[in-house]
Amino acid sequence: QSLLLTHQTEELKHLNEELDHIAHEDALTGIANRRSFDDVARKEWDRGLRDQQPLTLLLLDVDCFKKYNDFYGHGAGDLCLQSIGQALKASIMRTSDVVARYGGEEFVILLPNTKASGGVEVAQRVSQFIDDLAIKHEYSDAAPHVTVSIGITTIIANHTQSVIDLLKQADIALYQAKANGRHQYVVYTDKTTATTSPIASSLP
Ligand code: GH3
Ligand code: MG
Ligand code: MG
Repeated sequence: QSLLLTHQTEELKHLNEELDHIAHEDALTGIANRRSFDDVARKEWDRGLRDQQPLTLLLLDVDCFKKYNDFYGHGAGDLCLQSIGQALKASIMRTSDVVARYGGEEFVILLPNTKASGGVEVAQRVSQFIDDLAIKHEYSDAAPHVTVSIGITTIIANHTQSVIDLLKQADIALYQAKANGRHQYVVYTDKTTATTSPIASSLP
């Protein structure tokens, strides 16, 4: 009987681990989901409060993706998102870096202990990797292939701001990158035009 109990406990433990994995993974791309990102980001913010190292966030959005779906079909759109997810994963170097699908065709990369210049390096690498995928997109306004726009921001954790501010600032920079013509990155500064975009309006 005790052997059976041990066996069942083991099985339950295994199932729990699997459930935990599913709860933190995005089903389409296999990378971390928004919930998982939120957990990690909060932890990294708290760590930042203690060690006062800069936290850099990249917010990426696929350019003209509605048209991609409209012209190539939703199935092709899904495959495209999967490829982008893999390219993002390939573009980070440290084990503490986090890549997640934030929603629809939006992704985030969180870089702990990284200043803005490091964020720019990653943005350039990501953008190049995605260009190299060379996924044909005849209907994009930005290029003949699938591209992303990226907003970058850096904050040293403090008691007057939170992870929400990282997201809001990255979103403002992203919006600027879109307005500038897409297929580029913008680093947030106090002077970056404050505008609202779909993400900003969905933040608390
Ligand atoms: P912009 O360059 O300004 O970002 O334009 P956009 O067309 O990418 O932006 P918009 O927000 O108008 O459209 C986003 C599209 O992404 C619409 C939606 O159908 C598509 N999308 C979101 N999630 C998924 C998904 O899981 N699979 C597929 N195939 N498409 C998705
Ligand atoms: Mg979008
Ligand atoms: Mg888009």
